[in-house]
Amino acid sequence: MSLLCVPLLVDGVENGLAAAAGARSLGADLVEYRIDHIFHGEGDDAGAADAHRLVAESPLPCIVTCRTTEEGGDYDGDDSARISLFESLAASEHPPRYIDVELSTFQRSANLRQKVKLAVDHDGNPRDLRTSLILSSHDFAGRPRDLMQRIAVMRAEPAAKVLKLAFLARSIRDNLELFDLLSERDRPTIALGMGPSGLMSRVLAPKFGGFLTFASLAPTTVTAPGQPTVGEILNTYRFRSIDRDTRVYGVIGHPIAHSLSPLIHNAGFGAGSGAGGDADAINAVYVPMPVAPGWEPFKATLGVMIDHPRLDFSGASVTLPHKEHALRFAREQEGNGWRIDGSAARAGAANTIATRADGTWLVTNTDMDAIVSLSREALADDLRGRRATIVGAGGAARAAAAGLADAGAVVTICNRTVETAERLAAELNEGAGSEAGSIEAAGLEKATAPAALVINCTPVGMAGGEHEGESALDIEALVRANGDERPVVFDTVYNPLETPLLRAARLADLPTIDGASMFVRQAAAQFALWTGREAPTWLFDRLVRERLRSGGQGE
Ligand code: NAP
Repeated sequence: MSLLCVPLLVDGVENGLAAAAGARSLGADLVEYRIDHIFHGEGDDAGAADAHRLVAESPLPCIVTCRTTEEGGDYDGDDSARISLFESLAASEHPPRYIDVELSTFQRSANLRQKVKLAVDHDGNPRDLRTSLILSSHDFAGRPRDLMQRIAVMRAEPAAKVLKLAFLARSIRDNLELFDLLSERDRPTIALGMGPSGLMSRVLAPKFGGFLTFASLAPTTVTAPGQPTVGEILNTYRFRSIDRDTRVYGVIGHPIAHSLSPLIHNAGFGAGSGAGGDADAINAVYVPMPVAPGWEPFKATLGVMIDHPRLDFSGASVTLPHKEHALRFAREQEGNGWRIDGSAARAGAANTIATRADGTWLVTNTDMDAIVSLSREALADDLRGRRATIVGAGGAARAAAAGLADAGAVVTICNRTVETAERLAAELNEGAGSEAGSIEAAGLEKATAPAALVINCTPVGMAGGEHEGESALDIEALVRANGDERPVVFDTVYNPLETPLLRAARLADLPTIDGASMFVRQAAAQFALWTGREAPTWLFDRLVRERLRSGGQGE
């Protein structure tokens, strides 16, 4: 079991204690008091007294640290003054459980080292103390070049009860190296990647036996880049349920920080089939997997995750800019245990990677199935011969056009750049089966032509985008062109929940399908593929809508 620690940058005793009480009520196991804002060095008796009170009245066991400026903190006083303070805290009636001292401090002089060792409990110290030493190393620039050397030096120090390594993770591979370090540990060890690329190391600490992970009280009290909140780590990532056998899934993309997928898939794993509560839960976790744009980073990262002997990587959602790369990876591995589902082959892109019970791998495109099944439901199960207009000619449009034409619809792809639509239509027509409907290309002016279904596959109307607040097409013109018919209006954009296009359609009394429904539908298909169970779609839907309503972002 790994502990959950809330780091607190203390600016006053009362605030520090209140925050620690908050951490306890949220379910943290311990707190780390960073005292470099309240203690300023030699002669700061008031600061020292505050530190004593903080530790004595702490509602949770605590780590005390006084981070120097060179290790990302604010302390620029004398080293021996802060070590003396640690010593007096350790000797007090209510000592801290741990003090954290940087390796760099420890190595600075034999005298400092001696002073630290006198302040903590270890076999070589005859004093009866209850405070242990965490020996730490931080690098905010990236993986230190001398990482292995640093570890060797730390491991050679018997007075250190816990070793801590934290550096800015630049890739998923950095996380895997941290996991390997944990697997080889000779004593309790903390190994964490900072920054968005390191979140995986924080969440998966229990899987690899990490001593603890840090989580902040609130997004505004984060003490290191990429730190999740206590709520996220406990509720979204179900930290307490992660163990060495937990299977790992994730979303591969760039950027990925605002993806809604971890929220819903982790909730799905926690709910299992939904019938038996915890007993039904699936031992799996879903984490963001940021992978830099380009084929090489994608190929290398997926390869090392699959090959890692203890990661139990079992599948992933794939989003921009890697959907084509996922298909290419599978093509290169075809015959080598990889299979390409018809939807991925037809869409020319895959949004899902899944391992099968027999150890083989599958890539598929659940976006296509989601678009087709939602459209089918809205059109009374009848797509054959119906006219469908698709606005846009990118990845989503491609999945929509191929899926709907294969279901028998007569498709027109309307795009700002007509040549792109023409190329896409020609390519999809060429690969179509004999039962498929035709696909034509046109400019945006044809987007309001008579049709049973109109789908926006452009980012127009997306919150935070260049065309926020705009409608992808003129609904009044669409209504006029359709006479008595009421076409279904489908927007793939899901943030905001009701885009300007959908709002106009609703006001014109047209049936609508929103992007959140598509997002949930494609995610539910992924979940079913990974787990062999039906997804709790009602839960996915509720979580996505709640998050989007509260101003959360999408992928
Ligand atoms: P993409 O490959 O970048 O394609 C974007 C398309 O939109 C291009 O055809 C582009 O036209 C067109 N476009 C961009 N800006 C435009 C503008 N101002 N006016 C007219 N056309 C414009 O993107 P994508 O991957 O297909 O994604 C498109 C949308 O689908 C995104 O907003 C995404 O949120 C949504 N989506 C939703 C889900 C879901 O689960 N709900 C899943 C996937 C995608 P040009 O060719 O002229 O550049």
